[in-house]
Amino acid sequence: MLIEKESLNVLRDALERLEEGFTDLPEYSPSVDPEALQKVMVEVSNRMKDNFPYPHPMYCGQMLKPPHPIARLAYALALWINPNNHALDGGRASSAMEKEAVAEIARMFGWETHMGHLCGGGTMANLEALWIAGNLTSRKKVVASKQAHYTHERICGVLGLPFDYVPCDSQARMDLVALKARLDNSDVGTVVVTMGTTATGSVDPLPEILKLRSQYDFRIHADAAYGGFFTLVDNLDPETGTAFRHLNEVDSIVVDPHKHGLQPYGCGCVLFKDPSVGRFYKHDSPYTYFSSKELHLGEISLECSRPGASAVALWATQRLLPLVPQGQFADDLGKSRKAAIRLYEMIENDPRFRAAMIPELDIVVWAPKAESAGKISSLSKGLFEETAAQGLHFAIANLPASLLKHRWSDVEWDQEDVTCLRSCLMKPEHLDWIERIWQTLDKATKRVLHQQCKG
Ligand SMILES: *Cc1c(COP(=O)(O)O)cnc(C)c1O
Repeated sequence: MLIEKESLNVLRDALERLEEGFTDLPEYSPSVDPEALQKVMVEVSNRMKDNFPYPHPMYCGQMLKPPHPIARLAYALALWINPNNHALDGGRASSAMEKEAVAEIARMFGWETHMGHLCGGGTMANLEALWIAGNLTSRKKVVASKQAHYTHERICGVLGLPFDYVPCDSQARMDLVALKARLDNSDVGTVVVTMGTTATGSVDPLPEILKLRSQYDFRIHADAAYGGFFTLVDNLDPETGTAFRHLNEVDSIVVDPHKHGLQPYGCGCVLFKDPSVGRFYKHDSPYTYFSSKELHLGEISLECSRPGASAVALWATQRLLPLVPQGQFADDLGKSRKAAIRLYEMIENDPRFRAAMIPELDIVVWAPKAESAGKISSLSKGLFEETAAQGLHFAIANLPASLLKHRWSDVEWDQEDVTCLRSCLMKPEHLDWIERIWQTLDKATKRVLHQQCKG
């Protein structure tokens, strides 16, 4: 059964308890028309059938991870109150929970003090981080690797900050020689270091970039939207693990609890090492901030209204699964990592396939072997469709020739990029399902290659 429903009983009990907090009010009972609700909900559930089966382990395509049941329950419970975390007037309890949850994320990165908050997602979080960076660097240039998230360039456009790309090495990490050349030849104010790229999960060489910072003066913003929680995992390659251990030395960090933190969408987080950057947010809202002298989250965030429910869900999840090494949360993330290592080994040991690079997190990118980039691309697309037809869902990634020329030296580059298959093994269950995934991939590959022979 894909849809877990047992936890709904827990929600009902919790709502009864919540109600006990409001018994001294004059009698008032909001009414519903169950029949009308039912009618629409039949339509809603029918419409929602039109989706890939994201929660199932046979879905291993895009970055989609089911929220933990505790996150769903806590979020749903909060909706009966619907707090707004802009100000304490709109969400007292949920604002306190947000501060606690965000402080726990900061501690995961080794920061005992910080300034930070939740926001809509990684893009919004990066926007805030680069806005502060621009303010502190006299609006100097921002650079990010060619494989950094595409929104950095656009964010800089919005902020009116100059932006430039730095080429990548064959592991899709920021190339240090190229970065040094940028630092020598232009006025770089901020380097965006990606801790887990969206396409391949590659981790930029943070320790070396920190060394360059002591030579050249620039800010470091770590985009750990995808990879941040891997800080807790003990089965990374040594180089990758070392990069994560240096995260406490950067100036700002973005991490998405709605990617690997078991949260529903709408939960990003931005953190600054220096709490005094809060001064840039200063504004004078005539509507809010009358209820107490305590910090209102709206005083330190660019967005105004924000869902308190997101904070409640995150707080509850961290309560059940604390962000500590060797805890259940870390163990589960380690399983995703292990599943990726397994899949990579199977691919590399199979003469029909080859990996695009060594996976650093839980994302594996690979393609069927063929003589040219064009042939590889059409085989990948064929395999993407054939596996989907057999109930196994991967994603597609287009990688530039420059990234693969080294590793795939025998390929004829008849086009500028190559389509590969990409798999985000984000669920811990993927580890137990990897044999089944492989069997289906094997069957689909035989069919695709057979059709190709015939064609
Ligand atoms: C997903 C992602 C983003 C964007 O985050 P959203 O939550 O989708 O807005 C930014 N950077 C990286 C590295 C990402 O993986």
